[in-house]
Amino acid sequence: MKNIIFLAPPAAGKGTLSEMLVEKYGYGHISTGDLLRNEIKKQTDLGKKVESLMKDGKFVSDDIIIELISKRIMESDCENGYILDGFPRTLVQAEKYDEMLNKLGKNLGVVIYIDIDKQTAMKRACSRITCPKCGRIYNKYSNEMKPKHDGMCDDCKVSLIQRADDSEETFAKRFDEYVQKTMPLYDYYKNKGVLKTIKAYESKYDTFNEAVKIIEG
Ligand code: AMP
Repeated sequence: MKNIIFLAPPAAGKGTLSEMLVEKYGYGHISTGDLLRNEIKKQTDLGKKVESLMKDGKFVSDDIIIELISKRIMESDCENGYILDGFPRTLVQAEKYDEMLNKLGKNLGVVIYIDIDKQTAMKRACSRITCPKCGRIYNKYSNEMKPKHDGMCDDCKVSLIQRADDSEETFAKRFDEYVQKTMPLYDYYKNKGVLKTIKAYESKYDTFNEAVKIIEG
């Protein structure tokens, strides 16, 4: 299986699409955001260090992220292919990741850019709720993505929470970080000939079908 990198602004649907592709193909799922939120939840030294940065919509340092990724891609669930959801997010990360792959003799795979406008992404971020136990992503205003019972995870039956960085104000900062630091990766991967684009449709199934065409094409 080809590894996948999702390149997209915050709240474009990377997490939801990853969940669906993991279920269909059995990919390992590497979400740097989830890895960091887990450190915060456990209040590890790393978690304490990154908590306020993340709440403020700022990027965590490249060194920390590279260290997390280099360990995570070696885990057994990633052996047959994995999805990078939220990494790389800077040119330095992309270059370091290339070095990592060279050393391991692995291929980059495909980079899927999810096209979405700022207003739509902002609306999605502000109505997004997640399960603190299993991480499943819901959306209050989407018929497809709302929970069966208001505010409760369908599977775990625990109360859903809003991410600390999903407020309107923090979203704007995260989007600015994305434009400034992550958008240059679009050309970086386009020049390597590995970039494909899909649209963030209103229905997650439409977006999913486009991703499947790329993976199987
Ligand atoms: P996400 O869950 O992908 O939206 O990430 C949430 C937050 O985690 C981001 O706003 C950053 O603060 C931090 N983060 C996640 N991945 C990275 C990365 N690759 N580089 C820097 N910061 C990251």
